[in-house]
Amino acid sequence: MSELVLHGLAVSGGVAIGPAFVPPAFVPAAPSREAVDGGPPAALAALAQVAAELGATATRLAAAGRAAEAEIIDANRLMAEDPSLRSEVEALARDRPAAAALVAATERQAAMLAALDDPLLAGRAADVRELGRRAIRALTGGGALHAPARPSIVVAPEVGPAELVDLRLEDGLVLGFALSAGSATSHAAIIARSYGVPMVAELGEEVLAGESGAQIGLDGATGTVVLRPGAASILRFRSTAAANAKEQAQLAAGRHLPSVTASGKSIRLLANASTPGEVEAALERGAEGVGLLRTELAFLDAVGWPTADQHAAALAPTLDLLAGRVATVRTLDFGADKTPAFLRGEGGRGIALMLEHEGALEAQLAAIVRAGRGTRLRVMLPLVESPEQLAIARQLLHAATAPGDLAPQLGAMIETPIGAERSRELAAAADFFSIGTNDLVATTLGLDRDQPGVSPLSAAHPSVVALIRQTIESAHAAGITVEICGEAAGEPELTPLLVRLGVDELSVSAARLDTIRKAVRASGEPGDKLNQVRDGRDGVVA
Ligand code: PEP
Ligand code: MG
Repeated sequence: MSELVLHGLAVSGGVAIGPAFVPPAFVPAAPSREAVDGGPPAALAALAQVAAELGATATRLAAAGRAAEAEIIDANRLMAEDPSLRSEVEALARDRPAAAALVAATERQAAMLAALDDPLLAGRAADVRELGRRAIRALTGGGALHAPARPSIVVAPEVGPAELVDLRLEDGLVLGFALSAGSATSHAAIIARSYGVPMVAELGEEVLAGESGAQIGLDGATGTVVLRPGAASILRFRSTAAANAKEQAQLAAGRHLPSVTASGKSIRLLANASTPGEVEAALERGAEGVGLLRTELAFLDAVGWPTADQHAAALAPTLDLLAGRVATVRTLDFGADKTPAFLRGEGGRGIALMLEHEGALEAQLAAIVRAGRGTRLRVMLPLVESPEQLAIARQLLHAATAPGDLAPQLGAMIETPIGAERSRELAAAADFFSIGTNDLVATTLGLDRDQPGVSPLSAAHPSVVALIRQTIESAHAAGITVEICGEAAGEPELTPLLVRLGVDELSVSAARLDTIRKAVRASGEPGDKLNQVRDGRDGVVA
């Protein structure tokens, strides 16, 4: 049979060629007696077994220092113990086989999550379906997934985070993932990226038709998968893989070099993070510290505003790793696509929303000051639009600081045209600025930030560039620094433009640090990309 080229969603970069491995657990097992007529007790026992298995896996991972994965798996254990899922399974299992009840309940919850206009929550649909698959394996005695016996590419409809742990990515036997469904925001996608294992999703049913053992070629950067690749395709994959490896090695070899432009300006390189694993990866790649710690992601399932103790417990594992380093903690940015159930129906976002709820900011600031002792702590507020917001937060920050201690710096995130236009007044009330280009692009151009076609490169649009310029000029006139922490900071094509606009710090995901360091060092020289991506003042923008 000739080769078949499929195009899917590029989820995790890198190239792989190897035999397909269709995990047996994805092939439905013959139903056992229990699965057919075990009733509610059998279905609930299967869920309880899954919760116990996931709990044990999380404990093992935490003990092995794999804290970020442990956290994700433990969140899935909580999902397996969720009373609403258990009561739905129990009710359904009264009039259908236990296995069918587990499938129906998990599918219904997954469909509900997938329909939410929130990529993060939608990404959890895969986790709930995974629970269903695990529970059926528990019910039918199907056992856990195992890693392939030889290096292979996993072919499946989708994979969940605990399945990735079972597949033991750290052993290197999984070369890549070719998924018929899946998403770029699932936890499995995040884990695959952190291991550097290529993944392509949304390939459609055709990818599942291949047999276990048949050759597959996969390019996670372009989202291309070739079933039964011919000699020419194999050669192409091999040369891309060799070029990637060479580039990565060259970039990593430059980690010790300072982040200084060719014209001698130092640009501080920091990292965006929300988990201890991301902080570890960033420090390994030479980040000076964290420029954006997103705190709300740990609380998307919260049932009310977190207490100071809950904040401190969430912050401690991350901030402990940053002793002596810059730790920029952003206060909760709830609202829009990051709205926990208890805030549904309320308008507002970021600092404005938090200030509407008495005690919410006090609790978080108290915890930040407590957990951040020992770091070079900075606090920043999302979506600031008025000096009054900074004044209130400053007062609370002083109150949270022990007498005699120096209060941490207080920064304003500039993420809307109003924030940029009021940047002179804001600069007088803030200790630093951080520009959130993800939101600034969306609010300036009137787009939805997850809309196809909106990319970090949209920050080079003349209207956005004009606001970035205005913000930086206001900050420098007041003697404060400006960081960029949106995804635009991680785009090497934009680095020369941002450097020329006068940015002082770039905060990017750990995976982009090597690339951006190189781009900073190359910027400011004649012939660099300054001439290709022009800013708004000079004319056309790429
Ligand atoms: C941004 O908007 O650019 C930003 C960094 O914040 P978030 O992506 O968390 O909204
Ligand atoms: Mg933002």
